[in-house]
Amino acid sequence: MTEPVESFTYTAHASRVLFGAGTLSRLRDETERLGASRVLLLGRRTDRAAAVLGPLAVARFEGVAMHTPVEVTEDALSLVGEHGVDCLVSIGGGSATGLGKALAARTGLPQIAVPTTYAGSEVTPVLGETADGEKRTRRDPALLPKTVLYDVELTLGLPVGLSVTSGLNAMAHAVEALYSPEANPVVDRFAVDALTRLARALPSIAERPDDPEARSDALIGAWLAGICLGSVAMGPHHKLCHVLGGSFGLPHAETHAVLLPHVMAYRAGSAPEAMRRVAAALGATDAPAAVFDLATRLGAPGSLAELGLAEADLPVVAEQSGTPGVLEALGEAWRGDRPVAAGEKPDLSRLTEQVVASFSPASDPRVAGLLGDLVRRLHGFVADNDVTEDEWMTAIGFLTRAGQMCSPTRQEFVLLSDTLGISSAVDLLTNSRSPDTTPSAVLGPFYVDGPPAVASGANLAEGLPGVPLRADVLITDLDGRPVPDAVVDVWQSNQDGFYDVQLPDLEGPVLRARLRSDADGRLWFSSILPSEYPIPDDGPVGEMLRATGRHPYRAPHLHFMISAPGFRKLVTQLFVAGGKYLDSDAVFGVKDELIVEFPPGPDGGRTVEFTFRLGASDG
Ligand code: NAD
Repeated sequence: MTEPVESFTYTAHASRVLFGAGTLSRLRDETERLGASRVLLLGRRTDRAAAVLGPLAVARFEGVAMHTPVEVTEDALSLVGEHGVDCLVSIGGGSATGLGKALAARTGLPQIAVPTTYAGSEVTPVLGETADGEKRTRRDPALLPKTVLYDVELTLGLPVGLSVTSGLNAMAHAVEALYSPEANPVVDRFAVDALTRLARALPSIAERPDDPEARSDALIGAWLAGICLGSVAMGPHHKLCHVLGGSFGLPHAETHAVLLPHVMAYRAGSAPEAMRRVAAALGATDAPAAVFDLATRLGAPGSLAELGLAEADLPVVAEQSGTPGVLEALGEAWRGDRPVAAGEKPDLSRLTEQVVASFSPASDPRVAGLLGDLVRRLHGFVADNDVTEDEWMTAIGFLTRAGQMCSPTRQEFVLLSDTLGISSAVDLLTNSRSPDTTPSAVLGPFYVDGPPAVASGANLAEGLPGVPLRADVLITDLDGRPVPDAVVDVWQSNQDGFYDVQLPDLEGPVLRARLRSDADGRLWFSSILPSEYPIPDDGPVGEMLRATGRHPYRAPHLHFMISAPGFRKLVTQLFVAGGKYLDSDAVFGVKDELIVEFPPGPDGGRTVEFTFRLGASDG
């Protein structure tokens, strides 16, 4: 069965982005590009911007504050009317950007954002504002800055502590995007790249804060992380940080830095693929522990207690965030414990290697090799799929019933191998080693050793009802020379799709025989046209087919097993062209080269002619 087709919605948020070192020098051009000439500068460090803008800078507001309090916005708003402002330029971290958005929301003025931290707000259509001790978030494309100027030079002086916490804030955007219900391949790419860049850049920045390369890496990472934040709904981590910042006044980036690994551990069990990607981006195996270790190594604050939160507030935070079952993770974050991912699996490698080593005394190294690899894969299978004891007992019960179903005329394990495509896989491998011979096909469960020997011309159907068939067979080597005296076993179903071994009332073998090729490599026989048939589905294999919505039918075919001295044995089938189920054969046995025309014959029946090419045996 094919995988369901991916389905998602992705909205790109368009801002004009200028990235580089010294891009601030283009601020005046960019302002004029927007048709504006009267700028309100927002932020604590706006001198250089004012110098670039010259007469276009008509007012400045320095009183930005974290979490965008509405009182601050109202103060700044009064400057807009006073100075006839027609453009907002924010320079600073998320707080300055937030103020620009809050003013744009109230005035409709265009904004240019010049971010100097890694918060990512400049590319999100999101604004969080605080009023009366509560932080409210709104999302509106009109909040987006028209232009973003990323100037690496402005970040060279961002203190290491702030760089680290702000970088971890950006990483949180990327992590939550990977397990967001709105995740999509575009955002996934941005998230993984953001994580890779930030995890690489932050340690370099901690060592050399003014390294432009590392700063550039981090700023691009922050931009990509911001795109993630703006594109998909955020999860428990952002909800908790929102409450901790808005209601408990905790500092924004530091709170993100402390909380991230603990929320990751809380989510790990239900988002294993996201964690695998985060871990890979960080070059680690356990994503939450890797983020915790990175933050610790870089000197980020280690606990919510350190940020001033009272332990008694934890249940309130959990409650207000609306995140079920998160209290334990919050407790760990409060204490600053190194996180252990929920659902983290025990390491099986010692056990696996012990079992593998136990095979090494085998006298045949192939036996030790095959068993060892099988055990490795089975251990990996149970670990990767978190197989429960009940599931394993179900599997053992299934195999037990398959064994009990077997008899001299019923081979449930062959059926299982066939319906899982393993027989065809082994067969394809075998064929690939002898591409010029007639392709082989699976033996199937209905071969009975030692069928009755008959001479060419015999009728295998012995008066059974069905469409008469005349088969003419030639056996050659790879150069087309006839192979005489080849032993050819033929077996097939009757017109109702049953083999003789499935019909207990029949006496002796029917529709199966052993023939020999003559001096010209030829043999011929009469029979009836084989029809499609269901493989026996009254056993465990049938249960599997029903449980997975599969039909049990095989496309109509004749079986052949051909042996001749000096040649490799060929086990194959000829499929009736135009027959049913050729493209959905229950045992995956159909090969194009083996689909053969069975044209009408003189007696109202059908005919088939086929040349089998045998390869020389190895020895
Ligand atoms: P911030 O903007 O408050 O800056 C933190 C401190 O760093 C300030 O004192 C600031 O003056 C200083 N600073 C900034 N750049 C500097 C530089 N280059 N050199 C030296 N000092 C510098 O903090 P932040 O973490 O960038 O932003 C946090 C705020 O942004 C919060 O209010 C948060 O809610 C908001 N935010 C919003 C979004 C969104 O998409 N809406 C995303 C992220 C953050």
